[in-house]
Amino acid sequence: MQVDLHSHSTFSDGLLSPADLVERAAQRGVDMLALTDHDELAGLAAAREAAAQRGLRLIDGVEISVLWEDTTLHIIGLCVDPAYAPLVDGLADIRSGREHRARRMADSLTAAGIVGSLEGARRHARNPQLLSRAHFARFLVETGHARDTNAVFRNYLTPGKPGYVAHQWASLTDAVNWINDSGGVAVIAHPGRYPLNQQQSELLLGEFAAMGGAAIEVVTGSHTPDEFVIWARYAKRFGLRASAGSDFHGPGEGYRDLGNVPVLPAGCEPVWAGF
Ligand code: AMP
Ligand code: MN
Ligand code: MN
Ligand code: MN
Repeated sequence: MQVDLHSHSTFSDGLLSPADLVERAAQRGVDMLALTDHDELAGLAAAREAAAQRGLRLIDGVEISVLWEDTTLHIIGLCVDPAYAPLVDGLADIRSGREHRARRMADSLTAAGIVGSLEGARRHARNPQLLSRAHFARFLVETGHARDTNAVFRNYLTPGKPGYVAHQWASLTDAVNWINDSGGVAVIAHPGRYPLNQQQSELLLGEFAAMGGAAIEVVTGSHTPDEFVIWARYAKRFGLRASAGSDFHGPGEGYRDLGNVPVLPAGCEPVWAGF
């Protein structure tokens, strides 16, 4: 069975509508797909309808932005209830914080001599409530400041570079509780991408497991095969299950295409076994 538990649509910073995303997943042989838009559940209804027509299993997901000990983390909720009020309200709060952050990002780019980025990023955002760094990245490519979005993040929008601003996201406890209380399971997305040393990673995994977190994303578009093995070992050690997803944002963008997700290393307990 082909499983892909991490993907984005135009309701956050993906390039395809939920229906087009599901269609592409079906064409590429995906049997079980989670739509996990950043801080947003509004794409799930359309995805569900398209999935029913295509005979594909859709998992209601979300990728929540969290600040833990000065580090931004992404926590994925799978099998969440998109109508659960504390989750819906919590995500609405995060989205309104994004608006304020976007203005400060634009100010920072202006100070570096790049004007018009707020309007430019907005032109790339289909969901006006969800301005992401990916939208700013597309504006910077469009205006010739970088060759592609991956190149953008080497010179802009990251700590110490123009366009980056620190931001207060949700707390880890709130995110895990919203997910669990809505009937879902919480997964740490792409753990290898955070600027954490071994000791800090272990602290995070211990806290996450103790507060009811279920799994870590062992296989993701942003891990190397060596990292699959490292994070599989961590999962086992902390009694966590393993997830797998492409983190697909759009054709020709990002790390991996839909369904192009290698199998989990031996010994992992797949988080989707219980779905
Ligand atoms: P935000 O949640 O607004 O901070 O934006 C995070 C998004 O920016 C990610 O989900 C990716 O879509 C994109 N992004 C961040 N870092 C990179 C990177 N190094 N390469 C490509 N895209 C990135
Ligand atoms: Mn994104
Ligand atoms: Mn992420
Ligand atoms: Mn993602």
